[in-house]
Amino acid sequence: MTDFQAVLNSIYQDAIHATDKGVVASYIPELAHVNKDNFAIQLRTATGKTFGVGDYNTPFSIQSISKVLALSKAMSLIGEDIWKRVDVEPSGHPFNQLALLEIENGIPRNPFINSGAIVIADILVSHLKNPKEDFLNYVRELAGDTNINYNIDVAKSEQSTGFKNFAAANLLKSFKNLNNPVHVVLDFYFYQCAIEMTCSQLSDTFYLFANNGKCLQNKLHITDRQVKRVNALMLTCGFYDEAGEFAFEVGLPGKSGVGGGIVALLPDHFVITTWSPGLNKKGNSKLGMQALEQFTTKTKQSIF
Ligand code: GLN
Repeated sequence: MTDFQAVLNSIYQDAIHATDKGVVASYIPELAHVNKDNFAIQLRTATGKTFGVGDYNTPFSIQSISKVLALSKAMSLIGEDIWKRVDVEPSGHPFNQLALLEIENGIPRNPFINSGAIVIADILVSHLKNPKEDFLNYVRELAGDTNINYNIDVAKSEQSTGFKNFAAANLLKSFKNLNNPVHVVLDFYFYQCAIEMTCSQLSDTFYLFANNGKCLQNKLHITDRQVKRVNALMLTCGFYDEAGEFAFEVGLPGKSGVGGGIVALLPDHFVITTWSPGLNKKGNSKLGMQALEQFTTKTKQSIF
């Protein structure tokens, strides 16, 4: 049996002594204050065991990781109709790229680049009665934890600086791929990205994607087929123009956020979450990616 705690401890030692910890995202001013010496890994196995090291009980901004949760909620609301409005191809471009949207008649390449996530946000705004409240309750239900919240300062900070997201939403609107007003959809989107969670809470929340659609409380939220799709999208699109590199180095479906979090999973086996706020040039956590590469190499647990 692999000694998971020993593996996590050795990864932690390498990470805290790393000389290059990447660069903290500053385009959302509120995120620039985060100390890049924070580092955590947390693992939840399908057999019910948990292992952690470092700051795994410190909340951070989950940012784009929320896009997976928004997609799963939208899937449970409107099913296959989603794919009329968003494609499922890797973009090979940064998360905030707008050029492809122009070429592809307002159909975003996938639900994890910003334009795709804004379309998913529009679907949620249309179908949820109280979108922000209902979405937060959905996330809390998946995690089995009512302490999860939005960080309103982070949401407001992005609201006042998110010009590219306004541009994307306006472009989508011009192609008639947004049904609600731009400011309403983006208000929801900025809040969604501003959810804060600890590594432990994130592993718990993502457990359904490793457990055939059933959350930790054993409630079925999405079907097997939908889980297959979410995991395929995480593998091919979860790291934008670095999705190939993540599959190559780590070999798991996963999703990153500019808050420095990464969550990855092996279906039927485990969910693993890392947090290290310093990012590489592609906007993914530098030490988080390295830690996950070490984890899957040392434990031989990847989908490949
Ligand atoms: N809220 C961020 C944005 O829209 C999310 C980006 C990310 O985490 N990659 O730019």
